[in-house]
Amino acid sequence: MVRNTPEDMRDWIGMFPSTSFADDKCYFLPGFGNTCVFETKQGLVLFDFPIRQLARRTFNGVRSFTNKPVKYIIYSHGHFDHAFGYTPFLDEIKEKGWDMPEVIAHENCIKRFEKYNMLEKYHDWINKMQFASLRGRTEGAVVSAQETLQPTIILKGNEGFYDFKLGDVHFEIYHNKGETDDSVWLWVPEKKTICTGDLMVSSFPNVGNPYKVQRYPKNWALAMEKMMEKEAEYLIPGHGRMIEGKKEVRDALSITAEAMHFVHDEVVKRLNEGKWFEQIFHEMLEIFPAKLKENPHLREMYGCYRFAIHAVYRLYHGWYDSGNPTDLFPAKSDDIAREFLRITTEEKYLEHAESLYNEGKLQLALHLLDIIIKGSETERNAAFLEALNLKIKILKEKSKEESSFIAANIIDNAAMQIKEKLRELKKP
Ligand SMILES: [Zn+2]
Repeated sequence: MVRNTPEDMRDWIGMFPSTSFADDKCYFLPGFGNTCVFETKQGLVLFDFPIRQLARRTFNGVRSFTNKPVKYIIYSHGHFDHAFGYTPFLDEIKEKGWDMPEVIAHENCIKRFEKYNMLEKYHDWINKMQFASLRGRTEGAVVSAQETLQPTIILKGNEGFYDFKLGDVHFEIYHNKGETDDSVWLWVPEKKTICTGDLMVSSFPNVGNPYKVQRYPKNWALAMEKMMEKEAEYLIPGHGRMIEGKKEVRDALSITAEAMHFVHDEVVKRLNEGKWFEQIFHEMLEIFPAKLKENPHLREMYGCYRFAIHAVYRLYHGWYDSGNPTDLFPAKSDDIAREFLRITTEEKYLEHAESLYNEGKLQLALHLLDIIIKGSETERNAAFLEALNLKIKILKEKSKEESSFIAANIIDNAAMQIKEKLRELKKP
């Protein structure tokens, strides 16, 4: 597996300088996520905003290159790190008395904004977990669903397409499902540039995010193949560094498509063989080809192969995934653990968990520790406290080994919560 360095992480969250490219009338503003701006004689076309906490930085970056007014805004999709950092741009428009720009997005983006309103508190809760390690860098909620800049030009249907000309530059916008059902990407033929949004994120695609709704691996591969036909020389991903050069762009798109086809087709094959999730998952881990595992374009910075297996399964299968009727209407896990503790003591389980830990079987040790943590009647007994401490130790070791930002945050967040619980228990 390709390891991530701190520098990779800084690149991924856009902490590197802005640049101009192509004919020096195209500007790449890295951020979380990236923004790309095209300057024409009649004004600017802007692709994506960063999170609102980084909006001022991106705005200043744009204004260090050009003073022209923004005429079009394109949302690659309606996620909080692509469609919310618009305030400084709107303030400027009001201040200068410019016309409001057109805002282009897919129709599902509008439905997404409605959903964000309905589920605002829920999304705040899960995003705080998913982005736990960035918490210090942003204040309050990562996004406010109340504040959206609504699209004015709307792509419809499954094969949505829209094109326009500004100055003497053509802009072609295509819709393909992938990370989301509202994703669009931009092709600018005169500049040989593709802006992909999160269809490319300098990482294994974020397909199968454990917190989020269904994503679309097969459509994702098809989007990559459609992009390849353009023979672009510059590719601006949703996150991370620009990809430059016809061959580099082609290689990045082609290996990403291959990974999506692979995970999709291999899970489908196993569904057709009548296999349940557990078997499919472990078989898939065994057949993950080195060619994909070691490719730098597919580093598991954010999403990962393991999540993608879930995504394909969930696309075609219901929630009953074990084939074991015990799991159909299960008892409460605390009650199950309590029954295990009636067979033998907490101390015995702890002893066994420690020996598993010493043998390097961290995951099995966690399962044993959970029997003590979930089943203990008195939370202040020594075995319970030791089980919590060992769980923290194991989670920290797992997190250190974990390359996916999302998986590492899930693990770290849980370790932090256990620490808080221990502090509570130590209070007299
Ligand atoms: Zn993003």
